[in-house]
Amino acid sequence: MKLTVVGCSGSFPGPQSPSSCYLYEAEGFRMLVDFGNGSLGALQRHVSPFEIDAICLSHLHADHCLDMCSYHVVRSYGPGAPYAKIPVYAPAMAPARLNAAYGMPQEPTMETAFDFTALSPGTFEIGPFQVTAALVNHPVETYGLRVAHGGRSVTYSADTGECDALVGLAGDTDLLLCEASFLDGPGNPPDLHLTGRQAAEHAAKAGAGKLVLTHLVPWHDDARVRADADRGGYSGEIELARSGAVYDLG
Ligand SMILES: [Zn+2]
Ligand SMILES: [Zn+2]
Repeated sequence: MKLTVVGCSGSFPGPQSPSSCYLYEAEGFRMLVDFGNGSLGALQRHVSPFEIDAICLSHLHADHCLDMCSYHVVRSYGPGAPYAKIPVYAPAMAPARLNAAYGMPQEPTMETAFDFTALSPGTFEIGPFQVTAALVNHPVETYGLRVAHGGRSVTYSADTGECDALVGLAGDTDLLLCEASFLDGPGNPPDLHLTGRQAAEHAAKAGAGKLVLTHLVPWHDDARVRADADRGGYSGEIELARSGAVYDLG
């Protein structure tokens, strides 16, 4: 399984990265997890946009799903279009929300390009991947996603505040891709996002093999986020995500 960080900017695109988007590849199958604003552009540095086989959306905040609208254009009007519908696993409101975001009151709708399945907690197969979804601690319906293949796994926190379910989902995972949107300090609202320190605490409790901090907000100093994480009591390797980073899990 190979993981490519397409976009890791938190809440809005930054100068070095679009919003959240991760490309998982195994056995020639390509799956996107999240499709935030700006990520369709950066995706094309890594793979043809016509060669995506499935998409998962952790939740329907704009920075995690809006490029589905642009991607509808690719699949509906690109050379050789229309392309076969691909499966999209997302919260149940996704078709209505994305149709509204695009401005599609009538045909064609998002459903002409995508075959939507409503996410719910549990484990299911997408191509060669075993995917486990768990609800995490965010103001809207949001799923952390553990993707396993060939005995290895990557667990993605999505957006979440402190969350026992994330610790359970990430138990003994090889790589925890964990959001770190806030800087440590007083005044952070609860049940919304994590700091680097809290991300590291979750990684330590889960026994994760490696921690990659993501959803990095452009107005923060990355060095502060990293310093926060170093205080989280996690003894494994810690990295900050960057657009274009590749993790080959064999
Ligand atoms: Zn977000
Ligand atoms: Zn969010």
